[in-house]
Amino acid sequence: MSTTEELRPLVGAFSDPGQKRELNEDSWGIVREEDHHPEVIARKGRLYAVADGMGGHAAGEVASQLAISVLFEAYYSDPIPDLKESLRRAVVAANEAVYFQATTDEARAGMGTTLVAVVLHQDKAIIANVGDSRLYLLREGDIEQITRDHSWVGEQVEAGLLTQEEARGHIYRSVITRCLGHKPDVEVDIFERDLQPGDALVLCTDGLTNVVSEEEIWREVTSREPQAAAEALVSRANERGGPDNIT
Ligand code: CA
Repeated sequence: MSTTEELRPLVGAFSDPGQKRELNEDSWGIVREEDHHPEVIARKGRLYAVADGMGGHAAGEVASQLAISVLFEAYYSDPIPDLKESLRRAVVAANEAVYFQATTDEARAGMGTTLVAVVLHQDKAIIANVGDSRLYLLREGDIEQITRDHSWVGEQVEAGLLTQEEARGHIYRSVITRCLGHKPDVEVDIFERDLQPGDALVLCTDGLTNVVSEEEIWREVTSREPQAAAEALVSRANERGGPDNIT
């Protein structure tokens, strides 16, 4: 494949409140191609994102939905040609919107959200992350976590003080060290990968990764079409008790 040939990704998405929670504070977004001129899609690529809101009392889902809608609006309306910088600026805009609402609306005080996003442009994937929602790259027999978790347990794993297995069951596993909405500024991690035909990307919240292993994610995603795989992964998390919202 030439590098200018367009990659047309197959996409699936599924989200569920899980077995223990009444509300679903997770949100996701997929570029709606009918909303954009084909020239804009060709120039800016296709954007996909997942957000895991927190704050309770009708605040977590507001935070995650707001982050997703501002991210898409800001990304596609930004004229600069540098896609990495454009994506970073869109995440910063999402942070400002959530922070503004959290600090001006008493009912939403303290709300925040994670955000993981990917732009697919020609043969490149540009990834942005804040928080502990993840992006995995599945290539042939491997699954690689591209994003780094901004969580207490994630930092312990990186420092060699906890294993991945210990982190998944740890009582502090949901303690986030970086998110959108808590501070006026946010530091955004940006990654870039060259894509190959046959690659699969998985964006997910910790409601999946705390109960479903990377090996299981690999197996479900490589054996099904994307929509069926998304639904199978959510079912698997629910079979394990579905303690959190799953996307
Ligand atoms: Ca969660």
